Amino acid sequence: MKYRSTGTAPKEISFREAISQNMPADGGLFVPSDIPKLDINPFLKMNSYIDFANAILENYLDSSKIELSEITSRAFVFPTPLTKLDSRVFYLELFHGPTAAFKDYGARFFAETLRPESGTVLVATSGDTGGAVASAFWKMNNFRVIILFPENRVSKRQERQLTNWGENIKSYAVKGGFDDCQRMVKSAFQKTNLNLKSANSINIGRILPQVIYYAYSSVLAYKENKKPSRFFVPTGNAGNACAAVWAKKMGFPISEVVLCSNANSTLADYVKTGSYRARTSISTLANAMDVGSPSNFERILHLYNRDLNQLRKDILVTQTFDAEIQSTIKAKPYDQLLCPHTATAFNSYKKMETDDKVNSILVGTAHPAKFESIVEPLIGQIIPVPEALAETLSRPGTFETISSDENSFLKILS
Ligand SMILES: *Cc1c(COP(=O)(O)O)cnc(C)c1O
Repeated sequence: MKYRSTGTAPKEISFREAISQNMPADGGLFVPSDIPKLDINPFLKMNSYIDFANAILENYLDSSKIELSEITSRAFVFPTPLTKLDSRVFYLELFHGPTAAFKDYGARFFAETLRPESGTVLVATSGDTGGAVASAFWKMNNFRVIILFPENRVSKRQERQLTNWGENIKSYAVKGGFDDCQRMVKSAFQKTNLNLKSANSINIGRILPQVIYYAYSSVLAYKENKKPSRFFVPTGNAGNACAAVWAKKMGFPISEVVLCSNANSTLADYVKTGSYRARTSISTLANAMDVGSPSNFERILHLYNRDLNQLRKDILVTQTFDAEIQSTIKAKPYDQLLCPHTATAFNSYKKMETDDKVNSILVGTAHPAKFESIVEPLIGQIIPVPEALAETLSRPGTFETISSDENSFLKILS
């Protein structure tokens, strides 16, 4: 498989080159040159997640079968449960990795594909990405990892996960928002010639492995009742949603993808009105979705040749505001304890007309114990902390606070 830009540059490059370059020079994003339609029959007979991963990714990587199976078996070492909530509603739990959010899938795959190389990994994080990347690269000593996160905008437990690694990982709290962190990383790429790698969700190496759990869960649900699934995806930068749309395009039994946003309304307004207006992000209870300019939407637009009417047939956008996030968490739908991000999926499902032609798969993006300061007061109970998370939280964290000035950040880097 070759990769090309969503922009105007016609040049095609390999997967490894696309991972290393992170972003094409024409300002677009790398995408597979073609999303092949796969024969679904072999997948109906598969059960293991790793088998799905190998069978899908062999279409997208140049690695040998052996290299690929080393990457996937090291990356996906935790379970991906699909819980049946009722006859046509399922809950896809993507938070059983080491940092208890779905970012572990992309981050671990990214780290494993880079394992033979070396360099500095830069990551701007709105909360969960940084911890997942740190965990994935921790003690991989041919890499140095630098994390930028917005000061006072991440939960206490998220902060721990960003700052308590040591060894080859270094964390900085930036006096500003996520957009400032992203700007500083971008300028480092433009202004230095250090061997930098970007672990942000615009990197194709982060997005591609997310296709697997949509394929896997849609097939599991399909085997139950022969119906395709509608996915409800808590959405910020739209990387996770893009992976769902790619899985649909590959031919997996997916009817629509519902992008569940919080109060940040850029996507909802765009799909409603057809005019795209990026704006400054608003702080919400679902902080990992506080994005005013969702970069990965470009990939979805490209897939539909920028034809909004075509796109509207497959993609819906909903919004859940903080008050509904709170009431959804409090209601404990289907007896589930939800994180604020996952609550947007449950709330959107509840508000949407559904018929019996499709299954609904509600995507759980983080474990509620990561956001205990929001969730516990609402439900009036203590959430048990999963073992992997408890292990990380037991170590103290250290970080430096820095200004959002690009040039002082460049000095830190060099
Ligand atoms: C990153 C994140 C999201 C948003 O995912 P995108 O791919 O940026 O749309 C949602 N929920 C949680 C818990 C996250 O960490």
